[in-house]
Amino acid sequence: MTAINPILACDVGGTRIKLGVVLGARLLAQTEIDAEAKSGLASALKRIAKAVPPLCRQAGVAPGALGGFGFSFPGIIEPHTGKILSTPAGKFDDSKNYHVSKLVGKLLGLPTRICNDANAALAGEWHFGAARGNRSAVMMTLGTGIGAAAIIDGVPLRGQHGQAGCLGGHLTANLDGRICPCGNLGCAESEASTWALLIQARAHPAFAASRLAREKVLEYAAVFRAAAQGDKLAIALRDRSLRVWSVALVNLIHAYDPEVAVIGGGIMRSGDIILPALRRYVFQYAWTPWGKVKIKPAALGNDAGMFGVASLFQNEK
Ligand SMILES: [Zn+2]
Repeated sequence: MTAINPILACDVGGTRIKLGVVLGARLLAQTEIDAEAKSGLASALKRIAKAVPPLCRQAGVAPGALGGFGFSFPGIIEPHTGKILSTPAGKFDDSKNYHVSKLVGKLLGLPTRICNDANAALAGEWHFGAARGNRSAVMMTLGTGIGAAAIIDGVPLRGQHGQAGCLGGHLTANLDGRICPCGNLGCAESEASTWALLIQARAHPAFAASRLAREKVLEYAAVFRAAAQGDKLAIALRDRSLRVWSVALVNLIHAYDPEVAVIGGGIMRSGDIILPALRRYVFQYAWTPWGKVKIKPAALGNDAGMFGVASLFQNEK
């Protein structure tokens, strides 16, 4: 296989699976299918295989010309074996029973590289997006959960079990915090993420009187909107979440010494509120005697993961 073969890139999320044909910095074609995560990974891979021929036609690429299958998955992936060690609660529960590379080999006949989704997103941003040209970078994705990843001295950080860097959302942000699904107490993710927001808002005594109680979908965009209109609960949730994300970012900076921190994820649709708050806090509290870490919004949006897994074929050490 050479660097000129297009790569079939797949980015698995909790509700949707994105598929694309990537050639270098170009996404030749893309499509999405439902994740149907409760039906398991083996079933998802079969549906992915069915989507490949039409996708290749759309890209103008013969399926036989594909150089590999890059697979981004929201769990902990053991780097040396490609085994999936953890999955999001209640989703793709069968993943640990299979060797993804073998399944994909049978279904598609393609060599496979598998990678945690935050690591994939940072790889994409590093090659083609906001972290390009930097030797050391961290990423924090703010969404349903908090994802993280690090590249140090030009090498993506993995660790013995694939946990290094990608557990940045599960560094402790509150000693007195509630238990997180990961088993730790007071993780940044259990203090401020979309899944935690629902629990915190509904449990708050001021919820019934808040504008947030009238929102059909309670997400951060609604919190920022209501806070701007003076809603007291929304202001409290907004300010606390901004502090939690800032603390999490300081932790990542202290741990990994990046030149640039890339902030992505769905909550960053409100980046005009989040980025200035992160910069204020980090520039005041992070110990960086050499200067200031660049704090940038992700540049590739939802496509970062696909570019990232495709890049594994050209750049994996
Ligand atoms: Zn946790």
